[in-house]
Amino acid sequence: MKLTHILAAAALAVSAQSATAQQQFVSIGTGGVTGVYYPTGGAICRLVNKNRKEHGIRCSVESTGGSIYNINTIRSGELEFGVAQSDWQYHAYNGTSKFADQGPFEKLRAVFSVHPEPVTILVRRDSGINNITDIPGHRFNIGNDGSGTQGTWEVIEQAMGWKRSDLALAAKMKSSETAAALCDDKIDGYFWLVGHPSGLTQETIASCDAKIIPAVAPEIDKLVEERPYYRKAVIPGGMYPNHPDDIQTFGVGATFVTSADVPDEVVYEIAKAVLGNLDDFRKLHPAFANLKAEEMIRDSLSAPLHPGAIKAYKELGLMD
Ligand code: GLU
Repeated sequence: MKLTHILAAAALAVSAQSATAQQQFVSIGTGGVTGVYYPTGGAICRLVNKNRKEHGIRCSVESTGGSIYNINTIRSGELEFGVAQSDWQYHAYNGTSKFADQGPFEKLRAVFSVHPEPVTILVRRDSGINNITDIPGHRFNIGNDGSGTQGTWEVIEQAMGWKRSDLALAAKMKSSETAAALCDDKIDGYFWLVGHPSGLTQETIASCDAKIIPAVAPEIDKLVEERPYYRKAVIPGGMYPNHPDDIQTFGVGATFVTSADVPDEVVYEIAKAVLGNLDDFRKLHPAFANLKAEEMIRDSLSAPLHPGAIKAYKELGLMD
């Protein structure tokens, strides 16, 4: 081999080595595989991984128990990012509600908000349940441990003045198991907070005689009035078969969060990949159809924005 070839080969080896040294692996905690968090993580990673060669970040998605698991796992440093309901982002940052024992998660940082997540209650048509107020006395799935869904159920239970024993069965199955349980008549209904349209909701309505019911009650009005992270919401008529009318409910926002310990450059690249390619992002899930950049960087976020995200939004002209 000529000397020039040897030198060229050596230079190549060095540059390959530094490229590997710069590789950063980041994981996003999501939710059950039939939910909307899981494809949300997938959509984010897809846009990030497109430019992997330039920034060296390799993004991957994990299916998890949901919001509360994701926040706790970011806190312990095992996950860099997660999707979480805005109510649990608020409580984690402030050290309230379920997070009172652990105290405030001061390093929790917001990156952006995503789709709205209305309280979604699916019931068997033969159950006699027509509104949230009819749930006591029935067999109900209230969400798996670690889900934001179960946490929000507990808040609703308290606001309505219900005890756990008011349910004939309080099941804690994962979201991916609920459609089959409802169709097999193991439960009368299930409750969760999810974006729409959602695969699981579609599957439940398509596989058996199920319907979505409203969550309307004076106690719910009071909750929405008192708490900054709740708002009234509708599941639009026509979104699912046999549901021509709007369904009145209330809900939260899905948000994308991280920790102050995650380096600015990493958060910057991820925020830029999504907000800088919002048209592409919107196409990756039908629940993203109405996302607007100015709302995503402002609404439903109670933890401070990560400085890496602020840098990206300034550069994209979304912030002064
Ligand atoms: N909001 C749900 C939770 O945190 C997850 C919804 C989803 O998987 O899309 O429990």
